[in-house]
Amino acid sequence: MIGCFAGFVIDSDKLLLMGGSVSLAVITLLILKSLRLSTKSKLALIYAHLVFLFFPFVVLTTNAACGVACMPCGNNVASLVALALPTTFLASTVAGFFVIPGFYMFFSRKAETGNTRIMRFIRYHSRRMKLKMSKVYILDSANPIAFSFKSFKSMIFISAGLMDLLGKKELEAVILHELGHIKRKASVLTMSFSLLRFFSPLSLISRFHHDSDTEEIHADRAAIRIQKTDKYLKSAKRKMDAFEKESAT
Ligand SMILES: [Zn+2]
Repeated sequence: MIGCFAGFVIDSDKLLLMGGSVSLAVITLLILKSLRLSTKSKLALIYAHLVFLFFPFVVLTTNAACGVACMPCGNNVASLVALALPTTFLASTVAGFFVIPGFYMFFSRKAETGNTRIMRFIRYHSRRMKLKMSKVYILDSANPIAFSFKSFKSMIFISAGLMDLLGKKELEAVILHELGHIKRKASVLTMSFSLLRFFSPLSLISRFHHDSDTEEIHADRAAIRIQKTDKYLKSAKRKMDAFEKESAT
């Protein structure tokens, strides 16, 4: 019986595995804090960080469980990893739903908007679309970006650069597009589908004008339907494209 508990013994291979994972968790966090990255790269790094962070814990518990159950995985690093990896991804995915919106809440330079015109516009259209009022934040960034989250609360982020760049109607088109995303994701069905599809909390976020998948088309349609024209949405995208080209050269 005592032999079964051999699984508890941590040999050097497993120590190396766990040590490596913790180091990678630290490295991803350092990169995240020191580099200026795009929203997508940031999110990918947060997710990677969570994976590396959870992995040692899952290896430890799997290792112990194998020992108790007298399974052979206790002496085989490869089978241990094969057992621990899916659980790690599941734990990271669940954690990501809390951590990723939290990251944007606490670590980005932003302020809740006091712009009454924008707030009134969003409140009016949220009510019409049968949505709860979103939190609206202005990001302190010259890059013209907008994105939204829908996890437990919905949040819309708009950069100061975007507000400078766009006219009133164009900005409204972008906001309606984001509300269109939130409306789609508010349905539990869509949310669980996107979770299954990407198996990652990265699917929580929607960025204006970067992915041209079906979600974007649906969000665009929401904006066009309300404004009764695609003129403003198109000119907003044109301006954002032009800004990106300019800053790339
Ligand atoms: Zn979008």
